[in-house]
Amino acid sequence: MRFFLTTAIDYVNSRPHLGTAYEKVTADVIARYKRLCGVETYFMMGNDEHSQNVYKRALERGMDPLAYCDQMEQEFRAVWKQLDCSFDDFIRTTEPRHRAAVQKLAQACYDTGDIYEGVYEGWYCVSCEAFKQEKDLVGGKCPLHPTLTPEWIREKNFFFRLSKYRDALLKHFADHPGFLQPDARRNEILRLLDAGLEDISMSRAGQSWGIPLPFAPENVVYVWFDALINYAAAVGYGTDDSKFARWWPADLHVVGKDITRFHTVVWPAMLMSAGLELPRQVFGHGWVNFGGQRMSKSLGTSVDPVDVAQRFGADPLRLYLTKEISYGGDGDFTWERYEERYNVDLANNLGNLVSRLAAMAEKYRASRLSPPGSGGRLAGVVADARTRYQAAMDVYALHDGCAAAFEIIDAANEFIAETAPWALAKDPANAGRLDGVLFDVAEAIRIAAVLLLPVMPASSAEVLRRVGERTPVGELRFERDSRWRAEGERVIVKGDALWPRSDDAQGGPKGPPLHPGGGHVQSVRQQVGTKAVSPQHREDAGPQPHRVEADLQVGLKKESTLEEIPAAAAPTTPPAEDQRISIDDFMKVELRTAKVLEAEAVPKSKKLLKLKVDVGTEQRTVLAGIAEAYQPEQLVGKTIAVVFNLKPAKLMGIESNGMVLAASPEGGKPTLITFDETVEPGWRVR
Ligand SMILES: [Zn+2]
Repeated sequence: MRFFLTTAIDYVNSRPHLGTAYEKVTADVIARYKRLCGVETYFMMGNDEHSQNVYKRALERGMDPLAYCDQMEQEFRAVWKQLDCSFDDFIRTTEPRHRAAVQKLAQACYDTGDIYEGVYEGWYCVSCEAFKQEKDLVGGKCPLHPTLTPEWIREKNFFFRLSKYRDALLKHFADHPGFLQPDARRNEILRLLDAGLEDISMSRAGQSWGIPLPFAPENVVYVWFDALINYAAAVGYGTDDSKFARWWPADLHVVGKDITRFHTVVWPAMLMSAGLELPRQVFGHGWVNFGGQRMSKSLGTSVDPVDVAQRFGADPLRLYLTKEISYGGDGDFTWERYEERYNVDLANNLGNLVSRLAAMAEKYRASRLSPPGSGGRLAGVVADARTRYQAAMDVYALHDGCAAAFEIIDAANEFIAETAPWALAKDPANAGRLDGVLFDVAEAIRIAAVLLLPVMPASSAEVLRRVGERTPVGELRFERDSRWRAEGERVIVKGDALWPRSDDAQGGPKGPPLHPGGGHVQSVRQQVGTKAVSPQHREDAGPQPHRVEADLQVGLKKESTLEEIPAAAAPTTPPAEDQRISIDDFMKVELRTAKVLEAEAVPKSKKLLKLKVDVGTEQRTVLAGIAEAYQPEQLVGKTIAVVFNLKPAKLMGIESNGMVLAASPEGGKPTLITFDETVEPGWRVR
């Protein structure tokens, strides 16, 4: 089995933004999934260089256009490398192999009688580099470039007889209902075909930057006609017949929804004219907006994917783009949402699960887990999830595929909460049961990581290593390795937290947190109406609407630590054996009322406020991670609760002496615990 997969090639007049990266990353997920399924895959990407905009941009910079394109190729490749895109081939339209393919295909269409000379007169959008019909303009402007005035052009061109292929295209759509996905795009194109097609210009006169027409070399091939041919050029059309025979037709063109028309009308007609097979499928993905607005450099709504990848690494970005956007529809990116998903899916959920398993395996079984003999309840969950995963991935419902993998992770966390390994460990009579629980969790994590390999290649490989998978990741196969294995000892490997919780207070992208807390604030998590991410607490969470959350979980919810645990040590701390503490333990924590005397923002921190408080016996400086919920001036005069006997900690260069108590919903803004005026500073709270 073979699979030839392409993305659109990109204009190199500017660096890729997050929307461009979305297409490459999702196509890469598909390519990696195919390889995981044992399919021989050819995944190609590339750059579209014969654009007048590219030519102009190079001249503006005083550069030779080709030298400019060489430089941009390096920039694009560096971005795709940072996002871990595993392309097998990268084509440039200035390459000799592309030129040969364009000239051969243009000649073939000419020989069929589908190219003729005529005069083009009409509107032209310079930015789209596309001819626009009157009906395509909105208020006289290109809808994609409303700040530009289209040019009225009259020139001698060669035309491609697109109109001739309308019926053949309609028939192709009817015979191949899956040709264009998702369905909404197909309906758009069918309406277009119903309305009839006009012949299109396929050359430009008086330009030097482009590929000369073989039958009229004083003209160059119009950039759109030129660009589409890259897909055939890459696999040897015009240069390597055996390679072309092996890989053509393409199995899937992944393109943006705005250019599906070129790929499902113009391109198939060109191929029909040249006597070549049509691609099997075109997938028109949606756009990634930024805070609800179309991503655009000129509007300032553009995000550099490298900035995003530098925040938490490439894999969290790949997961966000794949899991949070229904593939085919539009999606949205904001930094806040991105950070929230990172904390929920990776820090709290998968990362925490891996850390907890390693800690328990080490503590109870010296990191060696033996199979219980048969798969437990989790085996059933895994079997269901892998079936749903496969069904989704096979039709490119990539978001559903991710969701299926995360069902396994959720189920494993719940399984730990229900089986309470720390309780089983207390009684030697439960040894066999404890073996089974730990092994089953390890096996569930292993399979979830196999399913996530296409989405998060590097970190899934690391998770697999930690749960004792011995097969090299490149040799793992979906069919064999995503099934429950109830045999073989697993050696569990401990390591640093895979995804430490984000911490704005650290003031920069990626790096070890300066402090385990997201701010020096005690979190009292709202349990009602929010999804509990602390399974160990679940059984007794019911009757209490709020509870002070001591950091009993491993590596979870680090801003709630009552003690100053260094971040690196947190994930390796063994789990608590019992979730309750004695009254003596509680009384060790001295909580006191305090009156806020002064409050100010901490420079360069989004979350921290610096408070001067009266704790009855003295005045102290306390930092609190509440800047997103309170203006400093709101706080002066308020009586709040603080942890009085906490060791001082330095945050953003300021020593904080104590900790403020606040209630927070998961991922939401904190609300301070306050008292009315009858309460004086320094009273004990218990
Ligand atoms: Zn335009």
